Amino acid sequence: MSMLAQQSGISEQMAAFGARWLPGEQLSEHTSLGVGGPADIIRVHDARRLPELAAYLHGHGVSWRILGGGSNLLVADQGLADVLLQLARGEAMAFAGNRAEVPAAANLGTAILECAKRNLGGMEGLIGVPGTVGGALRMNAGAYGTEMGDVVRALTVFHGATGLIETVKTEKVRFEYRHTSFSADDVMLAVTLELLDCPYAVILERIKQCNRKRRASQPVQERSAGCIFKNPPGRSTGKMIDELGLKGTRVGGAVISERHANFIVNRDHSTAADILNLMDFIRARVLKEYGLELDEEVIVWKG
Ligand SMILES: Cc1cc2nc3c(=O)[nH]c(=O)nc-3n(C[C@H](O)[C@H](O)[C@H](O)COP(=O)(O)OP(=O)(O)OC[C@H]3O[C@@H](n4cnc5c(N)ncnc54)[C@H](O)[C@@H]3O)c2cc1C
Repeated sequence: MSMLAQQSGISEQMAAFGARWLPGEQLSEHTSLGVGGPADIIRVHDARRLPELAAYLHGHGVSWRILGGGSNLLVADQGLADVLLQLARGEAMAFAGNRAEVPAAANLGTAILECAKRNLGGMEGLIGVPGTVGGALRMNAGAYGTEMGDVVRALTVFHGATGLIETVKTEKVRFEYRHTSFSADDVMLAVTLELLDCPYAVILERIKQCNRKRRASQPVQERSAGCIFKNPPGRSTGKMIDELGLKGTRVGGAVISERHANFIVNRDHSTAADILNLMDFIRARVLKEYGLELDEEVIVWKG
């Protein structure tokens, strides 16, 4: 729990910033892996007030992180002392020609479908990626040949370091494999997408194909954070783990998926510690047998 929790009148103070105070939320309920202890969440309903809100937190010596849809996070069992800022959903998307202005809090899949309905395509590959548009941008999420950075032309960002909100052209951003050049305290607020004219029926068919491929190759019905490790250049981490015969390996309630070896699933009340131990085990085996150090794709938040 954060230092703010001891302040009196904090709910009213947050309401004055257009935000909602949610103390002691179990992060297992806010993450797709279903693990993680308590943290205080501030749900931001008016992003224009973020500069004031961040200045207030800074003035009270409280550090913060930004929580999207929680689909790429592994949070420690003991929870976090930092406050989590989470942008509230609700703002509408806006369309002009082949551009779409999308709030960062929007669900990525919903955004793709809303664009499709207006005959705007190019993001179909990302259809099964859970989470928000802001999270996808930060991670440069990618699937089936499309990466988020391919379709983003500009974005509105709150820079925690300067306290300013500004619009940034994407030429200034480095998009890499599951990584972007943003700082940890840059908060995406809205994104301008540039898409291709394409009939709705064609986009829908591509979406169905991607959904079929995903269902056939990933444990979509189980709790996970997608791929746990990145692929080293020219190698498939899932293939290496599979070749080592590690599918089905279990630590506590955490299991290496039988369907996709680079997915760890929370099958039976797993803790974050179980998952971290299983990750260490995989890392050690891959290093020993292949001489390769695996980098995490999941973002690990330890206390
Ligand atoms: C079943 C499953 C399948 C998946 N498949 C894929 C896949 O095919 N490809 C892929 O790339 N990923 C995949 N993932 C991982 C995950 O869905 C993506 O990384 C997703 O883009 C994360 O978005 P999120 O909103 O959930 O972010 P979170 O998990 O909440 O956060 C991830 C990171 O983004 C930051 N962040 C979140 N919102 C913002 C914001 N508004 N501004 C700044 N930073 C922000 C967080 O601080 C954190 O560092 C999968 C996950 C699951 C569970």
